[in-house]
Amino acid sequence: MANFDKLTAAQIATGVSAGAFSAEDVARAALDAIAARDGSVSAFLQVTPEAALEAARATDAARARGEKLGPLAGVPVAVKDNMNQVGTRTTCASRMLENYESPYTATCVQRLIDAGATPVGKTNMDEFAFGSSTETSAFARTNNPWDTGRVPGGSSGGSAAAVAAGEVPLSLGSDTGGSIRQPAALCGVFGMKPTYGVVSRYGVVAFGSSLDQVGPFGRTVEDVALGMNALVAGGSDPLDSTSQPCGTDFLGCLDQGVEGARVGVIPQLLDAEGLSPEVAAAVRGAADKLEAAGAEIVEVELPHMDAAIAAYYVIGPAEAFSNLARFDGVRYGYQEPGCATLAEQSSLSRAHGFGIEAKRRQMLGAYLLSSGVYDEYYFAAQKARTLITGDYRRAFERADVLLMPAAPRAAWRFGEISDPTQMYLSDVFTVPINIAGNGGISVPLGLGADSGLPVAAQLVAPSFGDAALIRFAAALERACGAASVAPACAGKGGELK
Ligand code: GLN
Repeated sequence: MANFDKLTAAQIATGVSAGAFSAEDVARAALDAIAARDGSVSAFLQVTPEAALEAARATDAARARGEKLGPLAGVPVAVKDNMNQVGTRTTCASRMLENYESPYTATCVQRLIDAGATPVGKTNMDEFAFGSSTETSAFARTNNPWDTGRVPGGSSGGSAAAVAAGEVPLSLGSDTGGSIRQPAALCGVFGMKPTYGVVSRYGVVAFGSSLDQVGPFGRTVEDVALGMNALVAGGSDPLDSTSQPCGTDFLGCLDQGVEGARVGVIPQLLDAEGLSPEVAAAVRGAADKLEAAGAEIVEVELPHMDAAIAAYYVIGPAEAFSNLARFDGVRYGYQEPGCATLAEQSSLSRAHGFGIEAKRRQMLGAYLLSSGVYDEYYFAAQKARTLITGDYRRAFERADVLLMPAAPRAAWRFGEISDPTQMYLSDVFTVPINIAGNGGISVPLGLGADSGLPVAAQLVAPSFGDAALIRFAAALERACGAASVAPACAGKGGELK
């Protein structure tokens, strides 16, 4: 048989269900690919071979009993390390949770398992999901599979890199300000952040509770659709009060075509300062391709876009400060030994458990929520949020989907961006979507004309209109081709017997 990295999640599930190969053989191939490739990529913080093989054997046994297998039968999946999964630690790539064993399984992970998937391990990330390069992880540096001297993006850098390296066909990330879409762009894979509330947040360690959303990475739109179907199967989650039922059949959107549909482009964004010419050219090219496929291109405006980064860096830290207060070395997290008082213990546990970016966000959040300051920043940011949300609502009166950049530039070299403000600007195109709550998907557009590295566009859909993301991404995929495994990794280990 061919190398396992040539197979999509859809092909694996079909093959396992039909008995063309066993889930166990697929799991072994994935583990073998990880063993051969992860030394240079370092996407995983934890690989769980025994649990993976056990899950795969259970899938094969169910088939042997004549049971109908789930839509992700035997598909190896990787899970970001801020999602609880029984049998794994959930570290959030932080010393604070270095030894934290998941007491239960997050709904999003459970739904993939219920669909028949084989979880193979937990992926690296920026500490507590604060970051855009995965460099703030306390434990590992994840390298971009396309060039190991470059960042994979973040914060879900490990999940994006695992898919780009062909270690798994499908993975889960979380996105508070771009953490699925931006690393997907830098690693040349698809990454979807659904509308806030579509996927349950239960069991996912909270960063910004009004912004966080879980979604899949894949190398084809079909695989992303398959992942989305599994994530929404069973309807809203009673364990997450903000989760909403989603009746969409994402697979059913793949072949709808875009004839007569309206694609909104935002000229202001394509001329934005800091946007690299190759990304701007690729996004313009994508608009041409959608037009050639029968869509109508319309120009729309997002007048309050400029306020988004500032609003996000008020709302995000404020919510993070509240959420991370529980890591005090008593209820949760690293506990500093030998302290004389509770205050000292809490203070030193936090001082030594958190890294620099996690501290920066929490101190900022504490300040922004303090009396006298609150009105000036937090309240102002909420007003900006209302205006930004209104921008999108109005844009969707004229367009069925919006097309824009996902990340301003291709992957950069390690250490190249050290100024936090510069780092924050790598999310200019993704952050506003979390503020408005809409869904977005990063669509790989091949290699940039200047860098030779993956570049991407982002599609944004009306709130709860996530079907459009799959529909338009599929049209772009037909025009531009599916994502490929990074050349340095392709075919290394992972032979499927
Ligand atoms: N890079 C953004 C930040 O650091 C987004 C992170 C995320 O989406 N988790 O806040």
